[in-house]
Amino acid sequence: ATPMAIMVGTEKAAQFGILLKNAESLENLHNIQTIVLDKTGTITSGKPSVQDVVNFTDQSDADFLELAAAIEQGSNHPLAEAITAAANGDLAQADAFENISGKGVKAVIGQKTYYAGNRKLMDQVGIAIPEKAETALNDLAEQGKTPMLFADEKQVLGIIAVADTVRQTSAAAIAAFRQQGIHTVMLTGDNAKTARAMADRVGIDEVISDVLPADKEAKIRSLQEKGQFTAMVGDGINDAPALVRADIGIAIGQGTDIAMDSADVVLMKNDLTDVNTAIDLSRAVIRNVH
Ligand code: ADP
Ligand code: MG
Repeated sequence: ATPMAIMVGTEKAAQFGILLKNAESLENLHNIQTIVLDKTGTITSGKPSVQDVVNFTDQSDADFLELAAAIEQGSNHPLAEAITAAANGDLAQADAFENISGKGVKAVIGQKTYYAGNRKLMDQVGIAIPEKAETALNDLAEQGKTPMLFADEKQVLGIIAVADTVRQTSAAAIAAFRQQGIHTVMLTGDNAKTARAMADRVGIDEVISDVLPADKEAKIRSLQEKGQFTAMVGDGINDAPALVRADIGIAIGQGTDIAMDSADVVLMKNDLTDVNTAIDLSRAVIRNVH
């Protein structure tokens, strides 16, 4: 495209709240064959809240929730923030705290060690998941909620499920991608059942779940190796390497600074339908030259 067409297109995009950081992205947006979308914070609003408390201890649900919040206090993960927001009272201070990337957290409170996280975390530390917990995990995930397991050194104490609202325009954007023949993929660290339930709700073609933060980039690379011109939309620190790797990286404006720094395009209105607008602009810019 001519420099003039690029300038006009970039300005037009800016009017829609679409920040284009380079001319290449404007020229290439119409070539997207596969679009990979992060789940939490991208398709959803990224502000989950507690939905269910499944308590296997003999303390009250409120006390169990307080313990869970004390364990999660050191984490700034949205899942942890949902739990601390739901708990009342003064939280016990942790003596030690550790993030276990893509799996959960470990906290020492008083003389006891606690774990909060997913199945992978429980496997890693050798805590068995009893039948009643399995049943709850499955039921909650099938409802599209994210269940988290809480355990001490020996056993599972309970499950807390959080859920996030789908952004209002996500389904419309995804429908428009499909209409243009673009293959849609959801890429998430969340479990397969939760991810599939959410994907079905918004019309996503393919789900890649249980992805550790370090592996998101490799998943993009494997799509590219199939010959697909691949865009990635994300918001989190976890998404940054994948945004860089993608042929076009697109960040949610409300996301983390590192995601925005790593992207070619920033959606200032946090609206996925602006990707469709950007693709239309790209096509218009290219049409001008030919
Ligand atoms: P996402 O791509 O969905 O943002 P993450 O890699 O951040 O995924 O997390 C993957 C999974 O690890 C979560 O769905 C959750 O099960 C578990 N997890 C991560 N952080 C925490 C936490 N602070 N407390 C409990 N579980 C967590
Ligand atoms: Mg995210």
